[in-house]
This record gives sequence, C-alpha cells and structure tokens, in this order.
Amino acid sequence: MLAEQMKCAFCNGKGKDPFELLSPLSKCQVCNGSGKVTVEKPNKECSFCHGTGIHRDQRLTCIVCGGKGVVCTKGLSKTCPDCNGTGVPPGDYLPCTTCDGIGLV
Ligand SMILES: [Zn+2]
Ligand SMILES: [Zn+2]
Ligand SMILES: [Zn+2]
Repeated sequence: MLAEQMKCAFCNGKGKDPFELLSPLSKCQVCNGSGKVTVEKPNKECSFCHGTGIHRDQRLTCIVCGGKGVVCTKGLSKTCPDCNGTGVPPGDYLPCTTCDGIGLV
C-alpha cells in the first residue's frame, strides 16, 4: 500500500488536543498523540477544511478528512461538477454529497 506520513493537521504536529476540550494534557484524537498521520497516496489537501483538519465552524475534527487535513484521492480524477472541486456546493455549508466533500469524483 502506498502511503506517506505527514504532520497531523489538527494538532499541527504537537500531539495535543488543540482545543484542550477535555484537559490541557489530552492527546490529539486524530494522531493519538504522535503528531503524525499516515495517509494513503495519492492524496490532496482537504478542500472542506483547507488543510487545517478543523471543522469550519466548530472545534471538531473535519468530517471530510477526519482531522488529517488531507484526503486520499485514489481512483478519483474528475473535478466534481456539483461543487466545482471546492467540496461544498454553492450556497451550502455541508460537504458535497456527490464527492463526499473531496472535490473529485
Ligand atoms: Zn494530531
Ligand atoms: Zn478536512
Ligand atoms: Zn462535490
């Protein structure tokens, strides 16, 4: 399997919960405290969270990339016609249901 290790976007590689929701010492739930995540190739920056791993309006992990900030684009090649590759249809704020917020189909 082709995969690469990347810095965890949600905690910015620090391994700690960026919002300290449970406690200042709580581990980042995305990388489990390692500061790194493994993502299958090929991949691209998550359009929905713009690579931050953080949900747009809430202090939660991005529902499209799960907080990694990148999404696997295996088998996807065309720009999604419904959201124009942005991951969110015009006028909407939820991930595009056609591409699951990835922006490619
Ligand atoms: Zn993390
Ligand atoms: Zn995301
Ligand atoms: Zn779409």
